Amino acid sequence: MVLGELTVPLTRLSGVGPAALRDLAKLGVTDCGKLLQHFPRDHVNRKDEVTLRTALVSGVHVNTLVQVTDHDWFGPPSRRTLKLLIVDREGTQAEIPCYHRNFLEKIYPVGASGWLWGTVEIKFQHPQVSSFQLEPPPEGRTFGDPLEQVGKLEPLYPLAGHLTQTGLAKAVAQTFQLFVVGLEDDLPAILIEKYRIPPLRQLLWSAHFPENLEQRAQTYHHLAYRELFHLQTAVRRRPLSQAVSLRPGQTFSRRLQKELLLRLPFELTPDQDKVIDEIVTDLESDRPMGRLLQGDVGSGKTLVAFLSALPLIEAGYQCALMAPTELLALQHAENAGRLLDPLGVRVAYLTGNLRASGRNSVREALAEGNIDFVIGTHALFSTDIRFKNLRYVIIDEQHRFGVSQRQALAQKGQLPDLLLMSATPIPRTLALTAFGDLKTSVIRTMPLGRKPIVTHTAKQSNQTKVYEFVRHELQAGRQAYFVYPLIESSESLDLKDAETMVKYLAENIFPEFTVAMVHSRVDDDDKKRVMEEFSAGKIQVLVATSVVEVGVDVANATCMVIEHAERFGLSALHQLRGRVGRSTLASFCFLVYSENLTEVGKQRLKVMMSTTDGFQIAEEDLKLRGPGDLTGVRQSGYLKLRTADLARDFELLVQARDDVEAVFLADPGLLTVGNSGVRRLWEKAPPFSDDLVAL
Ligand code: ADP
Ligand code: MG
Repeated sequence: MVLGELTVPLTRLSGVGPAALRDLAKLGVTDCGKLLQHFPRDHVNRKDEVTLRTALVSGVHVNTLVQVTDHDWFGPPSRRTLKLLIVDREGTQAEIPCYHRNFLEKIYPVGASGWLWGTVEIKFQHPQVSSFQLEPPPEGRTFGDPLEQVGKLEPLYPLAGHLTQTGLAKAVAQTFQLFVVGLEDDLPAILIEKYRIPPLRQLLWSAHFPENLEQRAQTYHHLAYRELFHLQTAVRRRPLSQAVSLRPGQTFSRRLQKELLLRLPFELTPDQDKVIDEIVTDLESDRPMGRLLQGDVGSGKTLVAFLSALPLIEAGYQCALMAPTELLALQHAENAGRLLDPLGVRVAYLTGNLRASGRNSVREALAEGNIDFVIGTHALFSTDIRFKNLRYVIIDEQHRFGVSQRQALAQKGQLPDLLLMSATPIPRTLALTAFGDLKTSVIRTMPLGRKPIVTHTAKQSNQTKVYEFVRHELQAGRQAYFVYPLIESSESLDLKDAETMVKYLAENIFPEFTVAMVHSRVDDDDKKRVMEEFSAGKIQVLVATSVVEVGVDVANATCMVIEHAERFGLSALHQLRGRVGRSTLASFCFLVYSENLTEVGKQRLKVMMSTTDGFQIAEEDLKLRGPGDLTGVRQSGYLKLRTADLARDFELLVQARDDVEAVFLADPGLLTVGNSGVRRLWEKAPPFSDDLVAL
């Protein structure tokens, strides 16, 4: 039996009634196996004796043997509450009000002794104990014994409803006694030996009831490793990782690529060069590419996408570039038109808002192979779109796409080559999990001559200074962005919004300049016109929501003002800041924040001030927010690890990844086909959702 098969109903445990069942279900504990994996969030150290006096002086919990000297009652007669009067072995006296625990009267008659743990405070001139636990003294020990170390590490579980710590601990202990026999290990024996991992039963036991802190630390280290090993196994089993020689390798002509390079007014950066080579090598190989391209905003990923597609287009294949917003798709399409049309590449643009006639003609042309390169939004993978021979799918700003969308597009071709481009750097740990089956390319060098962006924070009350600064830049012929968290004013939130601010800025602050607005609800034609006019310098101030977060590229814009900056995630702030600093002009980013900033809000802004390194920002974001949004994989999903912590356990994750790879190489059948023992165990107890495996 493996752990996942331990589905004994909780009702088999004594003391678990209907109410407890409901409460346990709230915690996700629906059978005995799950109960064993409901790990304590912490342990209380009850190893060291703390007398009442020490507890009073030092403020720690009392943890000592006491004797009941008297019973007393207080409160109205109908709701009398027991009060135990006690003394410890140093002679200190205290009172214990026993709210809702009058039954202690019988268990602790006068003269009885018990082991007391709780908080002590002076109330009404007397030491009073609250939040306490009182238990029979450790076996064989009486009140008269000399002071010495006794007690244990007690689990502190996440609770729900009326569950109690002792109740849960008892249920866990009972499960071990009654049902945990012959538990098979689901880790390959070779790894158990390599890391001297104790038997699973013992590991689980000491996760709940460790002997000491050292054992506890070791136990959780082993458990975290196991968890990450299973995570990596799931990643390794995804289709993309499994793809074996599916097509003949092929060498492509790079004539078109060279032609485009000759037409560019600049040289590629060394990293762009390197990355294009990495991609083309993959494209020429005999298995489909799965690659993640990370490069900070403005590092020139679009060009890499175009240049890497050209050899395939020259060879007669179709390529698709998918962007998360209409605005961005449009901008890519315009760039492609400008750069690729002259090479004879047939480029098309497809979004959900295309008129029916236009859409139909694009559809037909795609199906007949009369389009080489199609650029669009997720409309590209609506069910009615067919390709003649789609070979290469490029997804820009991939973190905005859901898992299912990525899959849907991937299914359009015969497992096409896949390039995911991201300016939101994926923290190392996440890259190894959600994208663990992808190779990665990184562009670190920025195009020559870029000036660093100067970042300032400003309190809302100082906003006029910011507006003044921006005016100077506008007067010098530059342009500015103003970004707001909301499109229109909201009754429930006291925040500035784009609709209100565009009027305010136009009328009161910058009357001598042209101010316009884009956000997701502005219709496409208007959006297009505004962006064109902003690009052309006819509009000086662009008011927006985070739609300008990705991709938008106007070199003459030197100011980015983000109001209510505390409302944006770090990665979003980083992206927004990247809209400026796109030329040799000095650029500025203003993070305007509300007066009542939270601690986390302060920390966020500090991070933004301290670095422009997107990778570092992403790591900090992970620490402050957890993994959720970064990857488009919802937080509720598989990344909820029980014992491992992605922000902490990077080394362990790498180790697990390498071990999975080694196991796989030693016996590929283990993770794909065949009926090996380990494979069987993994299948019976898939530790992570199918989502992950399918990703
Ligand atoms: P991102 O990586 O953020 O998508 P873009 O592809 O939008 O960046 O590139 C930003 C700008 O830099 C574009 O105007 C592009 O033409 C320009 N660019 C790209 N590569 C270079 C280069 N090697 N030298 C100078 N400018 C470049
Ligand atoms: Mg881009």
